[in-house]
Amino acid sequence: MARPKVAFFDFSCCEGCQLQIANFGEPLLDILKLIEVVEFREVMSEKYAGTLDVAIIEGSINTTHAIERIKGIRDRSKVLIAMGSCATIGGVNGIKNAFPLNDIAEYVYGGDSEYFESIQTMSVHQVVKVDYFVHGCPIYPPEFVAVLKAVLMAVPYDVPDYPVCVECKLNGNVCMYDRGVTCLGPVTRAGCNAWCIGNGNICYGCRGMVSNPNEKGSIDVIRRYGLSMEHIINKLEMYNKCRELNPHG
Ligand code: SF4
Ligand code: SF4
Ligand code: SF4
Repeated sequence: MARPKVAFFDFSCCEGCQLQIANFGEPLLDILKLIEVVEFREVMSEKYAGTLDVAIIEGSINTTHAIERIKGIRDRSKVLIAMGSCATIGGVNGIKNAFPLNDIAEYVYGGDSEYFESIQTMSVHQVVKVDYFVHGCPIYPPEFVAVLKAVLMAVPYDVPDYPVCVECKLNGNVCMYDRGVTCLGPVTRAGCNAWCIGNGNICYGCRGMVSNPNEKGSIDVIRRYGLSMEHIINKLEMYNKCRELNPHG
């Protein structure tokens, strides 16, 4: 039986999510028994212009050319997956939307800014229909596999809508707040198995916010540990400056 044709495409991003997949190691060999990768710029030079069973999109959309390109990919793809924070919630690219476009262009390109077309950052679902979301910066490999399985079985994948703290507590981690460090786990959407905390870091909110953050509980935590709201908001804005980019609200 023919394997589903799958292609990876990158837009505005650092390509770190594709790198996660290229670095999968042995599980990648098992995945390749189930799918036929026909385009993946980071690991192969072949291009594919035909109909795709699955298009996997990395990066956010922030030029008119990118809008046309993503629409063309959508038109020839049966299933489309948005992969990584840049694609799913705008990610760090979303920060741009909080400033006048001209100011940003001048800051980056100086006197040459007129030669670089730029529009406000959009996450992929704001331009075309997205069937599956794999959040994270970068993506958490086990979740990518879970989503791919759901795609191949033609069943939905429900992105968790509870905070990272749930996974963190289940893993028995000592809370970062008890170590005197601020962590965004209480308001961030789970699904990464509290990846960063498990590796001694804080949660930076890269998967976007839960749709119904416990504001009262968060304010209690902020007060209990003597933190300022400004400090928390500054941290949150790295990935969540523009909530309208988040497909889950
Ligand atoms: S989500 Fe993060 S790792 Fe993935 S492409 Fe964007 S910036 Fe890079
Ligand atoms: S605040 Fe951070 S460290 Fe503390 S439980 Fe939540 S995710 Fe874990
Ligand atoms: S712990 Fe937070 S920052 Fe780290 S991967 Fe999970 S959601 Fe992203």
